[in-house]
Amino acid sequence: MNKSEVIDKEGLNRLIQILIGRGYEVVGPTVRDEAIIYDQVFSIEDFPAGWTDEQEGGIYRLKKRSDEALFGYNLGPHSWKKFLHPPERKLWQAQKEGLDFDIIPEKPEHKKYAFLGARSCELHAVAIQDKVFMQGTHTDLHYQALRKNALFVAVNCGQAASTCFCVSMQTGPEVENGHDLVLTEVLDDKRHDFLIEAGSEAGKNILKEVKAKPAGEGDIKKTKEIIANTATQMGRKMDTENIKELLYENLNHLNWDKIAERCLSCANCTMVCPTCFCSTVEDVTDITGEHAERWQKWDSCFTMDFSSIHGGVVRNSTKSRYRQWMVHKLASWQDQFDTSGCVGCGRCITWCPVGIDLTQEVGLIRKSEPGQSGILSGNEGQNENS
Ligand code: SF4
Ligand code: SF4
Repeated sequence: MNKSEVIDKEGLNRLIQILIGRGYEVVGPTVRDEAIIYDQVFSIEDFPAGWTDEQEGGIYRLKKRSDEALFGYNLGPHSWKKFLHPPERKLWQAQKEGLDFDIIPEKPEHKKYAFLGARSCELHAVAIQDKVFMQGTHTDLHYQALRKNALFVAVNCGQAASTCFCVSMQTGPEVENGHDLVLTEVLDDKRHDFLIEAGSEAGKNILKEVKAKPAGEGDIKKTKEIIANTATQMGRKMDTENIKELLYENLNHLNWDKIAERCLSCANCTMVCPTCFCSTVEDVTDITGEHAERWQKWDSCFTMDFSSIHGGVVRNSTKSRYRQWMVHKLASWQDQFDTSGCVGCGRCITWCPVGIDLTQEVGLIRKSEPGQSGILSGNEGQNENS
């Protein structure tokens, strides 16, 4: 077991300075555009001190806490994928030289990111993207270069949002894997400290420089209580038993039509999802035709063009696109990557403008089992969440 130590707010500032001194670009939580956004930070002055987030299906708002907690929020719309798998990236450019073109590939970026504030479900999401980008037939060299250099300073969640269901997905709330350091914020009338523990050799090395104090038994007990309390606060739950078979056997369930009546095919759910990885490529040329560039951009299975092949679009209805997304996420992802594609972060519920909730939709399908394709009326499926 790794040794627990304690730092105060000054110690946290020291940690940030050490990381900057070691050449990391430190990315952490900040308040921008009335949301918690991950961005470059230079000290805890940049953190969302005293802010928390209220979330529900289709609802997100920041509100003030009664204390000055630095990690007293849950998750914002951004995930760490925006850094490791950016929304837009130039792949190569071509410059006309006489009658030919010189193709100049973009070199992988070797930036060193230190991600400060990653939650357990988010570390699981990164592990899933690692499988997709680095452990398949084709390695994404850009992702690999950034990932290899990345350092994670995780945080155990001190509270859950009403859209969280990491307990159901076995991805949280306790940080167990994938971190270099992990913090637990302890805040009451008498103290504002952070328990800190290393999760890797790199983390141990950094921790030595931080000059933390050894943790007492009371500190360790407090951490356990905080995590256990968060686990009881899950606002959603999802029964994942045989979920793959459940969804495969219900591809013609009438509930897909009901969802399609509400779904706007806006793709918000895929953009905010920390595991969604699909992209497209676009070529652009300048007006003279002497310079061309190829860009990779995030794409979504909710767009019409996404399933366009010779002869037309394969999934031309909203029903087929939503079904593709949810069945992939919760079922065929298991066949493809040997893991669920969902870590229970709840972002797709919060940021869906019409509040479509996958835990509720799975509940509706499950409650009409076995073999019925009828729609359940009223709020029966919501019992899954109550
Ligand atoms: S499907 Fe929804 S709840 Fe699951 S990881 Fe993606 S955004 Fe989070
Ligand atoms: S489920 Fe919601 S967020 Fe996703 S495409 Fe439909 S309307 Fe948009």
